[in-house]
Amino acid sequence: MEPADSIGRLGFARWYERRLIEGHAWFVSGFLCLIAIAACMEELNLRGSLPRLLGYAVLVIAALAIGIYAIRRYGQILSEAESLGERATCRSCGAYARFRLVPPAQAHCRRCGNEWTLFETG
Ligand SMILES: [Zn+2]
Repeated sequence: MEPADSIGRLGFARWYERRLIEGHAWFVSGFLCLIAIAACMEELNLRGSLPRLLGYAVLVIAALAIGIYAIRRYGQILSEAESLGERATCRSCGAYARFRLVPPAQAHCRRCGNEWTLFETG
């Protein structure tokens, strides 16, 4: 089960860092798509030949589809990281991200031994 596998493998702090990097990479991709669309729109005028016009239209549609996908992934990844980040602090001793994952969904504090539910299962 993702993200439990990755958190178990990497530890929460590194998992969280990687998610933020991945999320922002998607955001940058989405932004580049926006720039590509703007550039194509500038080239799109009705005086060009039909194949040229169609080529740019296909580029705009592709960039739009990728851009929408990228921005959605950015939102999903960040909200997932955010919601797990809120559960990464031990309520008993206040230690942040100092837990070991007890499969499938429990966190076990390395400092005080407190356990809590990290993931909602089912
Ligand atoms: Zn603790």
